[in-house]
Amino acid sequence: MSIQIARTKSELQSLIQSWKNKSLKIGFVPTMGALHDGHLSLVKLALEKTNRCVVSIFVNPTQFAPHEDFEIYPREEDRDCAKLEGAGAHLVYLPAHEEIYPNGIQSNIRAGKAAHANLEDRFRPTHFDGVVNVVARLFDHVKPDVAVFGQKDYQQLQVLREMTVELNLSIEIIGAPIIRDEHGLALSSRNAYLSSEELEIARMLNQIIYKAAYDINEGAAPKEVTKKAKDALLTCGFDKVDYVAYKQNWNRVLIAAWLGKTRLIDNVGV
Ligand code: AMP
Repeated sequence: MSIQIARTKSELQSLIQSWKNKSLKIGFVPTMGALHDGHLSLVKLALEKTNRCVVSIFVNPTQFAPHEDFEIYPREEDRDCAKLEGAGAHLVYLPAHEEIYPNGIQSNIRAGKAAHANLEDRFRPTHFDGVVNVVARLFDHVKPDVAVFGQKDYQQLQVLREMTVELNLSIEIIGAPIIRDEHGLALSSRNAYLSSEELEIARMLNQIIYKAAYDINEGAAPKEVTKKAKDALLTCGFDKVDYVAYKQNWNRVLIAAWLGKTRLIDNVGV
């Protein structure tokens, strides 16, 4: 396999330094693995902007609450590396826990204003502090010129933009469009948890979210539209809806809803 693999910070940094010595620009795509075409689209974007693409695969415990799916999160290292090689990435960073958290998981960095939007934060109150904790450490290891994140996790993207400014990092943050399957379902590593019946229901989510965005764009009251969308999700078989929200300053509709044990999120611009 010609893609390079680094498991330690020092292996990673010696490779990256050799590229920096040649004035090559470094693009970075942080992931938790179980890679799909959504992740690979981020690699493609990074390669358009830079000369070398580094992808990290690290299932970060600090962004999971104790009752969440950290233990069962899909881990597919060999398959992931093959996919990344096919996509043209240059280096995969596969750090062990101790490499990222050598002195424990404590961190002084806290997620900023975007992490208090009454969306994901309401249901996953410790999540974004865990995200900034790990991404700040990964940025420090990789020191990229450009980092690419998906709009799929829209609130996360805003939190990380804020973090980059707050920490005064000279890293360009790029938000990549959401990649969907042929039925419009946003690709997600967690889709692997869905049974075939649940998958059928999941595929209705994007129709409901697009309709909500369309109606708001046509002038309907966001409060009524989001209420209707929530009812529609429950009617078509979702078990629980954490939120359907229209966020005015982002001009987006955002949804989080449950199918059995699987939590799906999606969003669309109005
Ligand atoms: P994850 O492995 O789920 O932490 O995701 C790693 C990165 O891939 C994040 O920046 C996600 O927003 C992005 N991502 C996940 N799914 C998609 C998708 N369907 N389209 C575009 N980006 C995605």
